[in-house]
Amino acid sequence: MSYEAYKDNKLGFTTRQLHAGYNPAEHYRSKAVPIYHTAAFELGDFDRCTRLFEYSEEGHSYVRFSNPTNDVLEKRIASLEGGSAALAFSSGMAAISNTFLNIARAGDEIAAVQTLYGGTTTLLNKILPEYGIRGRFIEDENDIESYKKAINENTKAVYIESLGNPGMNIVDIEAIAKLAHENGIPLIIDNTFATPYLINAFDYGADILCYSATKYLAGHGTIIAGLTVEKGGFDWHNGKFPQFDAFYEEYRNSLGEETLKSSIFTKRLRIRYLTDLGSHLSPTNAFYLLQGMETLSLRMERHVENARKVAQFLEAHPKILSVSYPGLESSRYYSLAKKYFPKGPGAILSIRLKGGLEAAKKVLEQVRVFDYMVNVGDAKSLIVHSATSTHFGQSKEERERAGVFEDTLRLSVGIEDAEDLIGDLKQALEAV
Ligand SMILES: *Cc1c(COP(=O)(O)O)cnc(C)c1O
Repeated sequence: MSYEAYKDNKLGFTTRQLHAGYNPAEHYRSKAVPIYHTAAFELGDFDRCTRLFEYSEEGHSYVRFSNPTNDVLEKRIASLEGGSAALAFSSGMAAISNTFLNIARAGDEIAAVQTLYGGTTTLLNKILPEYGIRGRFIEDENDIESYKKAINENTKAVYIESLGNPGMNIVDIEAIAKLAHENGIPLIIDNTFATPYLINAFDYGADILCYSATKYLAGHGTIIAGLTVEKGGFDWHNGKFPQFDAFYEEYRNSLGEETLKSSIFTKRLRIRYLTDLGSHLSPTNAFYLLQGMETLSLRMERHVENARKVAQFLEAHPKILSVSYPGLESSRYYSLAKKYFPKGPGAILSIRLKGGLEAAKKVLEQVRVFDYMVNVGDAKSLIVHSATSTHFGQSKEERERAGVFEDTLRLSVGIEDAEDLIGDLKQALEAV
């Protein structure tokens, strides 16, 4: 029997999340993707070693550079996104920081929205500036003129999140991509909250996607992992990226012009940064991630269905001041949500309580099904007080700009039975 499902990108999303990128015939016909639990691989003969190290032959030598388990994972996410290549990292922050280093050099800038994941903000306003790379924040993310003001001749990328944290704010991705491309720079999106199931960001003009795969992709709160995915087709040789011109010259003979044309970003990311900064994902965690991704579409459908029900319940509750969820008609992002997220705008929402901080504390003490935890995207429902956790250390003004007030709670709605989630919040709110 021949097995072709691994390379047929015309198959549906759910079929590909189970099969893409893995050909059992290359792995003793093991049906599960094997974990290659080794630090290194036999090099074979002298000439093969040379070919591996000059990248003229595909293969594996040392696990920090590449390994067969991660290879399947990278092919699978690339297939789900419709991208040309992908690279796995030890965490979402590793994927994001290595991506920034690949794109910007001393003197360069990255234009970014202000409502970013906390670690990314620190990277852009505290860490990278020490190396001469500046993060320039966009004043009003809802106004395209603001993006224009943040872009200058040193800007090397525009960076946004497809769903912001915790306000679930949505920006006009297509318009921003168009502006970036007019300026000869790529649009990079952190697509963690949305996943490839809820949005195909490449269709709207994104060039590079970063993921904290720790969240929905892995889906069960068991591992930390990151991914960077490349669309392919961006013109890296437009004069703005001398590092890619030099890389092209250095590797055109060994990697081949075709590979470099479709995936030079990922090749350089691996060879320069993954290899020598060392944030590789362990093959064991790649296995857990692959296993989680097998049910991604099914989980996301249930996540968004539950989130909608929970949001509607909370919006009607007398003790709730407001609910931020772009799936609600009351949200200012409702029309953008309809356009970009027809299957539903994720499953994270934030609420403000009429009873202030005391009420928020009470709810955290009373919940029994929701767990008081700082992460998101677990199959299980989670709740947290953003001001004293994810947004701790920010000034009141910074927090409030991101939609985080003293009375704000963020919910990551899981896949439990919706009536149990609503029942849990109902009894917790009764205690307020
Ligand atoms: C969690 C998260 C990150 C960081 O990912 P880690 O896997 O924890 O390193 C980055 N961006 C977003 C949107 C996240 O939620």
